[in-house]
This record gives sequence, C-alpha cells and structure tokens, in this order.
Amino acid sequence: MKTEIHPKLIDLPLVQEADAILRKCVHCGFCTATCPTYQLLGDELDGPRGRIYLIKNLLEDNDIDDGSVEHLDRCLTCRSCETTCPSGVEYGRLLDIGKQFAAERSSAPMMRRVVSSLLRFVVPRKVLFKPLLAFGQLFRPLMPRFLKDHVPAKQSIRHSVTATPDARVLLLSGCVQSSATPNVVASLQRIIESTGGASDLVNEGCCGALDYHLAAHDKGIARMRQVIDLLYPRLDEIDTIVSSATGCGVTIAEYPDILKYDADYAEKAKAVAEKLKDPVELLESLELDLSSKNVAVHTPCSMQHGLDLNGRMETLLQKWGFTIEGHKEGHLCCGSAGTYSILQPELSTSLRDRKVKNLGAGNPSVIVTANVGCQLHLQSGTETPVMHWLELVADLLD
Ligand code: SF4
Ligand code: SF4
Repeated sequence: MKTEIHPKLIDLPLVQEADAILRKCVHCGFCTATCPTYQLLGDELDGPRGRIYLIKNLLEDNDIDDGSVEHLDRCLTCRSCETTCPSGVEYGRLLDIGKQFAAERSSAPMMRRVVSSLLRFVVPRKVLFKPLLAFGQLFRPLMPRFLKDHVPAKQSIRHSVTATPDARVLLLSGCVQSSATPNVVASLQRIIESTGGASDLVNEGCCGALDYHLAAHDKGIARMRQVIDLLYPRLDEIDTIVSSATGCGVTIAEYPDILKYDADYAEKAKAVAEKLKDPVELLESLELDLSSKNVAVHTPCSMQHGLDLNGRMETLLQKWGFTIEGHKEGHLCCGSAGTYSILQPELSTSLRDRKVKNLGAGNPSVIVTANVGCQLHLQSGTETPVMHWLELVADLLD
C-alpha cells in the first residue's frame, strides 16, 4: 500500500512504525474472513482492511472524523485477522498506534468519555474495585439482567495454599482477577504444590492493558513501568514469572514492543518478558491422571493470536485424561475483549451468545477458558459452569 504521511507526523517514530506496517498491506481482504465485527455487521469499515484504510487516512490527513473513530472503536483488538493475512501485517500494533492518534484528534461522545474514564479510574485500583464489586455482589440478586451480566457472582477461594518468598516461580496476582476470581491463582498454587514445587505471589497491580487499549497510552505506559520496577530487581532470584490471566500475559509479552522507544525501560522490558510463561508452558511436563470429564475449551484471543499458544490448553487437558468437546468457530472472539462488553454491549452480547451456543453444542459439563474477562463474560450467557482451566484441574487434585 502506498502512503503519503502528513509532513507534521512523518518524523515521529510511532508514525514511521505505523507507516511500515501500512506498506505491508496489499489490500487483498483475506483478513475480513476471520473478523468477528465484519461477520456481524457486513460493513467493510468494520473489518480490518477498512480500518487499515481509516488509519492510513488519519496519518495522511492528520485528522479523523467521528464516524471513522467509531469504526476503530468497534474493533475488539482480538487479532484474529492477523492469522489470515499473507503479508504479515501487524494489525494489532497498527490499531494501538492509530487509536492513540485518533484520540488526540477527536472527541468521543460525553457518555463514552465518562464511562471510559470511570473504568480507567476504578478497575485498576484494587482498593476501589474490590469493595465496589463486593457491594454489587450483595445486591446482585435484585439487579436487572443487564447489570447482573456485569457483576459476577462472588467467588470463594477453594484451596489452602502458602506463598514461599524464596521460590523460583513468581505468580502475578492480576488486578481484576485478584478481586473477581481469586480462586484461579490459588488453583495454580495448589497444582504447583502437588508437584512438590513452591511459588511466591506478587501483588503487581494493573499491567497497563486497560489504559493502553483505551487509547490512554501515557497512563498505560506509566503502569507498565511500575510493574517493571517491581519485577526487574527480582529477576536474578527467579526463573519464571507466570500470569494466569492471558489478557495480562499478552500485555507483558508486548512490553518490549511498546517500550522500545524508552531508553530507560527498553532493556528491562525485554528482561521481564523473557521470564514470562503462561501456565500451560509451566505445567506441560507435569504428568497427572485425572478422571475424564466432557469439557468445552474456549481459548482466549490473547492466548490464540497474542501468545501463539492455540491448542496447547486442549492438548494438556487431553494428556491428563479429559475428554474435550470440539466446537466450531473457535477462532472467533467471545466479545469480552477487556472493557468491550461495557463500551459495545450489543456487539459483545451477540458474540457471547454465538460463542456460548457453539461451545454448548456437545452438551459439555463444564466450559473452561484461560482469562478472567472471557470466564465472567461467558458465564453471564450460560447456565453451564464456566471455569478457568486451572480451577478445574486443582479441584480434582483435592
Ligand atoms: S489480509 Fe493482510 S494484506 Fe490483505 S488486506 Fe488484510 S491486512 Fe492487508
Ligand atoms: S482485531 Fe479482531 S475485530 Fe479488529 S479487525 Fe482484526 S479480526 Fe476484526
């Protein structure tokens, strides 16, 4: 694709990076076949190729209209489109850069700005989010369906485990996960203990994904630096950092890319990301013999397209004796996508219902996934229990 970047932008490193990505695109449109928003809306501008053109126009005109911003905001950042692109266009990175420039040149509707600011203020702050969630859970039975869908039922921790401060495996607590599904990290600790191993737990706060994907790059990057400041001094004492929420894991894996222009943090970001593992990578050599259950597996987009671990959760569960119920459209996003379920509720609900129907086709006794957002979002659309896969495994060890 030929580009003529606006003279005022051409010298900015981020724009040069976006330009290089744009130039790889040959407008073939193969990517539209795997795009959930294009499948739902059938509008070229709600698919990856159309959005790529909108970002090209933005960087050429140094301006963008509100309608174009809405098409960009409707993107789930699921990166499914990258899997069918023959030219290796890094769409996710391009969108992140494009949304930041769009946010600086447009003004979102008042209500959207308020909701977005509230989410960014409350969700990463455990001291606010946890009591607010507990308050909501108290009144959940009285809530109308729409609100109930966004307030998960209270989850208790089912395993008694201990953190070992000098352990070589460091588990991240996460921000939303530590309040909404605290049993997940406890389950991972329980599985590690069952092998005779030990782990320590760190309360690292928000990884920065929430701000960054809501086009508040400066705040998101500030949070990323905080996480690095916490983890980097411990790197010599540990072998592995594990995130049990793939949405956070993929963000930490992207730190080197996001911070590559930051002279003080570029090398530290790489060092932190190099120690990061997903639980499937940590546990794949473990031998377990568990009773078989018919399980449907939803692999989060962050795990499939971001961490490149598609199929690994199923393989591990099968090795340990589970029967996996296959389902169609496994590549499509469930509609959770961070704050998407709140900011784009109609599209999000359509995708959730479609995903739940596909997952339920084989009448599984349980649906498992690997990210807190997907877990809670899917559970709001089905009576079938939805668990993190680590919880399912740890429950069978007790
Ligand atoms: S598949 Fe790749 S090269 Fe083709 S239009 Fe989509 S992003 Fe561009
Ligand atoms: S990231 Fe997902 S929603 Fe966005 S254009 Fe790509 S496939 Fe479509």
